[in-house]
Amino acid sequence: MPKYSIRRLSHKWSLIWNQWKHQLFDRYRLCLLFFKSHFYNSHSDAYYLADTILDPIFYAVDHYLKYCGTIFVLVVFFLLLAFISFAYIIGVPYWYHRSQPVFWIAFVIGHWLLINVIWNYFKSLYTLPGWAIDKPIIIEVTSFCKKCSAAKPPRCHHCSVCNKCILKMDHHCPWLNNCIGHYNHRYFYFFCAYTWLGTIFVMAFGVWVAVDHWFPQFSPFEPIQIQWFDTDYVTNSLVIQFLWLFNRPKWKTKLMVFEAIITVLLFILLGLLLRYHTILVNSGETCIERYINRKCRRHFQRYNRHYQNPYDFGWRENWCRFLGFDRHRHPWRHILLPSNFGPTGNGFTWKTIDDNDFNDEMC
Ligand SMILES: [Zn+2]
Ligand SMILES: [Zn+2]
Repeated sequence: MPKYSIRRLSHKWSLIWNQWKHQLFDRYRLCLLFFKSHFYNSHSDAYYLADTILDPIFYAVDHYLKYCGTIFVLVVFFLLLAFISFAYIIGVPYWYHRSQPVFWIAFVIGHWLLINVIWNYFKSLYTLPGWAIDKPIIIEVTSFCKKCSAAKPPRCHHCSVCNKCILKMDHHCPWLNNCIGHYNHRYFYFFCAYTWLGTIFVMAFGVWVAVDHWFPQFSPFEPIQIQWFDTDYVTNSLVIQFLWLFNRPKWKTKLMVFEAIITVLLFILLGLLLRYHTILVNSGETCIERYINRKCRRHFQRYNRHYQNPYDFGWRENWCRFLGFDRHRHPWRHILLPSNFGPTGNGFTWKTIDDNDFNDEMC
């Protein structure tokens, strides 16, 4: 074929391709516009998209979570029971034989943590969060709940799982099958905090047991043979006879692996949860208010204005209000020991930063 005809052919093809390319690109743009026009909303952004994607999950939580509540509570209960029991089975005989002073230090710290975990667990499980419907006359009303057909005081939100308006609602906890609100918020926080401290305690004392068991060559201690549930320190009851089963090496390894997995998982997950709730308390917000305040902040920013959370009195004051400390309560006793006192206020009226006397009665 002559050379000039190849050139003409390639030129022709490039013209056709350019034409097609433009047509294809135009069609693609039209399709994109068609697609976007069906979902366009001037208020839509990444958060709106996240809400839309999470909507089916919220629907499932609202409609089906109440039926799984008891199962979730039992899962947490038996998980905690296993975590605590295995810590006893593994740790107590080891430190009893290894070092008596360390054993007694661990015994005191461990039981202090355990008492606080159990107390705060059952208190957050059985303390009602506070219902708006309990008071027939509400002085301060912010909105109206169509589902309860009742007025809502400030910081109150409707829980679709409990089907009630909850005072200072934080969130509905499936693991406790209870709403976390005004009256049990402190117990919930302390339960998370003490359980998390418990995981640190188990790691601190359990790591030596693990090193002795799997890497005895790296252990700083002399090797010793420890019989778990030795009758030196426990009575020879039927229960103990049963627990002697765990003296078999393969059971020891299984229990230790199980305990290690629970401890690390609880340490990470509870640590993240605790961090989030600590940030919330620092800024005087609940989970729901954080979401609302973020929206308000973005809205105010559009008009170059600053939004201030009305319940943020500064981190120290926020903690005092959250823990319910005032002049009559000594803080440390109520933090370090199980404490039964109620929160400050009735949950129906709330002081804000605009009230001049907001710090009159607090610590
Ligand atoms: Zn309601
Ligand atoms: Zn609820």
